[in-house]
Amino acid sequence: MFKPVPATWRVSSTYQDHLDREPPSSAPGIDIACPVGTPIISPDSGTVQYVNWTPAGGRGMWLKYDGWRMYLAHLNAANAFRTERVRGGQRIAISGNTGRTTGPHLHLSVQAGGAWVDPHQFLYATKSRRLRYIGVHLPNNVTPEDARFLGKHLNIFKGLMRLDKPVNPVGDNDALDLPSWDMIRHEAPEDSIFVLRAYANMQHGPMDGQVFAYRTLARVFGLCSSGGPLAGANVRLEIHNEPNHPDEGWGPTETGATLFDRWYRLVYNQIQHSLNERDLPNVKLMWPGLAPAEWSHKERTWMRVCEDSIISSPSIGVHCYWQTKVDNYEQLIHPQLGLNWKAYDDLLKRRERTSEIIVTEAGNSNCHSNDHPNLDASEQAAQYVLWCKNAVNGVNGVTFFLWGAMHPWEGFRVHRHTVESLGEYRKTLG
Ligand SMILES: [Zn+2]
Repeated sequence: MFKPVPATWRVSSTYQDHLDREPPSSAPGIDIACPVGTPIISPDSGTVQYVNWTPAGGRGMWLKYDGWRMYLAHLNAANAFRTERVRGGQRIAISGNTGRTTGPHLHLSVQAGGAWVDPHQFLYATKSRRLRYIGVHLPNNVTPEDARFLGKHLNIFKGLMRLDKPVNPVGDNDALDLPSWDMIRHEAPEDSIFVLRAYANMQHGPMDGQVFAYRTLARVFGLCSSGGPLAGANVRLEIHNEPNHPDEGWGPTETGATLFDRWYRLVYNQIQHSLNERDLPNVKLMWPGLAPAEWSHKERTWMRVCEDSIISSPSIGVHCYWQTKVDNYEQLIHPQLGLNWKAYDDLLKRRERTSEIIVTEAGNSNCHSNDHPNLDASEQAAQYVLWCKNAVNGVNGVTFFLWGAMHPWEGFRVHRHTVESLGEYRKTLG
């Protein structure tokens, strides 16, 4: 969906302000402050119902869309005639200061099902996402056999996202591993996204942010600068792994969230600054996927504390796990487990952002559970397909712990059948 007013704008009077007026507004909506002469854009394809003039609204215009109508007021001019079909993105009017106003602005109302509604949910809905990238986690030291497996089975996906083992800025066990990245880059489709994890070892408490940024950047430059195996590739840098996890970060408390938020801002600014300086626009910083669920990891508390940092990140990582029995998909479709990404989608809609969402960890975590034994390959495959169907219009990509994940995640080691089923599903997406 297009926004009706391009460039910079601000809402000068909200829907609630209109309802609270004395007397209440006869066409409640929002006021968008913009100078006279600002082009107004049709948010979608639709039809002009009529153009009118009223003492209060001045030059007005009604447009009909799929299931809803929009009213614009105080216009200088309408650029489309009654019954005319308009396209999304087409200029339909020029803003003005006509009718009863206290200054130049666009008044905009929306009716759905014959009732006035807050225009936000229609006009600022997140640009629709499409699940295009399905990938796996990879071990370091990819072998030629691994690479062949990837070539044979995993390239069935149109866009494939590969996720590295954590880039640990303090460990010495995961050097750049250039040969693995070379092989993976060679196997992957041209438009793949590669996710690097910048994961600080927390054995001795949180790592100093500047040191973390510095060491992470050294790795990023080694991989992504010209001559590196990921030069020119689409790379996401996931800053820190599950910071709200007690073993991996600041822990599941509100204090932990506050401390991490401060740390993240510092690291983010330093890394972004250096990426700009080195002219690496294909490397985008990613908000780390938090350990899921409020009851176990205080994820929703963290989301609230870190809200501004989350929405400011160009890419947002989310973790979605489920455990489930045959024919019981309760946890797969649970809003804080399998469908955890929806909370981030909601947050972005509320804050009028269109950042990408990439689920950097997802899968059936039955291997962690004593209550839910591992399922056979067919059932697992069916679950992964079902998950994709539930996420197809909400996330941009997902990596499953299907293959190459480390202990104790070996239960996710790939299963050709699951991969093939996902491939079949992928074809249905076109
Ligand atoms: Zn108004």
